[in-house]
Amino acid sequence: MKNIFTVLAGAFLALPAFLSHAVLNVLACEPEWAALTTEIGGDKVRVSSATTAQQDPHRIEARPSLIARTRNADLLVCTGLELEVGWLPALLQQSANPKIAPGQPGNFEAGRFVQRLDIPARVDRSDGDVHAAGNPHIQQDPHNIALVALALAKRLAEVDPANASYYQSRQTDFSTRWTAAMAKWEKRAAPLENIAIIEHHKNMEYLMHWLGMHQVGTLEPKPGIEPGAAHLTQLLSRLPQQPAKMVLRGAYQDDRASLWLSEHARIPAVVLPFTVGGSERAKDLFGLFEDTLQRLLDANK
Ligand SMILES: [Zn+2]
Repeated sequence: MKNIFTVLAGAFLALPAFLSHAVLNVLACEPEWAALTTEIGGDKVRVSSATTAQQDPHRIEARPSLIARTRNADLLVCTGLELEVGWLPALLQQSANPKIAPGQPGNFEAGRFVQRLDIPARVDRSDGDVHAAGNPHIQQDPHNIALVALALAKRLAEVDPANASYYQSRQTDFSTRWTAAMAKWEKRAAPLENIAIIEHHKNMEYLMHWLGMHQVGTLEPKPGIEPGAAHLTQLLSRLPQQPAKMVLRGAYQDDRASLWLSEHARIPAVVLPFTVGGSERAKDLFGLFEDTLQRLLDANK
C-alpha cells in the first residue's frame, strides 16, 4: 500500500510542471470573452482580461503589465468590429507577438461570428463614434454567446490540436447547459416584450433585439459624446409624446445623466452588469444573464 501511495504522490507532484507547459495563455479583450474561454478551455487555458466590467471597452490605457500579458499570449480573444480600435492596434504593435497578429489563428474576433446590428449606410465622422462594421456590443444576446462559443472551441482546437477533443466535449457540455438556460430566460422575459427604454450609449441593442424591446433615445447626443444639459433637456421634453419605461446604463458608465433623467421623467434608472463582473451576481456568463433579466423585470413592475 505504502508504495502505491508513494507512486501516486509522485505522479501528482509531477502534474503541475506538466500542466504549466501545456497550458495555453489567452488574453481576452473583454470579461465576457475571458469567461467564455474559461467555459470552453477549462484547465487547458490560463485566461486574463485586458479590461474589467468597470472600464469602458472603447478606451483603456495600455499599462506595462498588459503589454507583458499581450507579449505572452498564445491566443487573443476580442470582440473586434472596431470596439478596441482605440487601443488594441497600438498594444499589438508594442507587444510584437506574431502569434496574435491580425489574420493569424491566434487572433480571434468574436464579432465575425454573429449577425450584426446597426451596420451604417454611410460612415461620417460628424455622426460621432460610429462603427462601420456594425454595433460591436454583441455580448448581451445569449444567442451570440452560443455562436461565439462554437467558433471559439474550433479555434482553440486549431491553436492547440493536442487538446482538440477536450475543447469539443466542453463546448458540447456548455452548449447543452446554455440552451436550457436560454429557454428559461426567454420564458421569464415575456413581460419585457415591446417596452421602450432610454439607454446611455448605443450598447444595449443586442439585448433589446433579443427581448423585443426598443429604444426611444440615448443619453449621449452622439455615440461616444458624453451627455450634456442641452441634449438631456431636449430628451426629457420628448418623453411625454414618446414615453420610456426605464433608463438603462452599463456598470462602467457614469450615473449622473441617468439619475437626472430618472428624477425628472419619474422612470427607474437601471444599471445592468453589461458583462461578467459588472455586479455581485454576474460572476459568470450564466449569472450575467440571470442578473440582467432580474433587474429589468424588477424595474418593469
Ligand atoms: Zn460603442
